[in-house]
Amino acid sequence: MDCLFCKISKGEIPAKEIYSNESVFAFEDINPQAPTHILIIPKSHYENASSLADAEPEVLAALFKAAREIAESQKLAGYRSVFNTGAEAGQSVFHAHLHLIGGRALSWPPG
Ligand code: 5GP
Ligand code: ZN
Repeated sequence: MDCLFCKISKGEIPAKEIYSNESVFAFEDINPQAPTHILIIPKSHYENASSLADAEPEVLAALFKAAREIAESQKLAGYRSVFNTGAEAGQSVFHAHLHLIGGRALSWPPG
């Protein structure tokens, strides 16, 4: 399958790795929207968070645990964790990924 994030998690396309365990990989977003902008992905391919929840709910939970660990290690005062699902919501890569965004004050609602 021709999937950008599968290739990144296998090391076939370079990325700045932040975290890895048996089921999760995390790397810096190439176009950061804040001082910290990290993408946390399952190593297995799922199109979006909902499909991941159906198939491997423990890995969905593992993404959020990785987010907490990364936020603690980077001493973030707070952070936003976001899944975009579907093109209308801004999803452009169809391999589930949790955006971890922080390092500045974040406004609400998002655009
Ligand atoms: P989405 O729009 O699907 O929610 O998020 C996709 C994210 O992937 C975007 O924030 C975009 O900047 C990031 N991205 C796209 N291509 C690459 C890449 O080749 N390397 C990295 N590190 N991030 C990428
Ligand atoms: Zn993939």
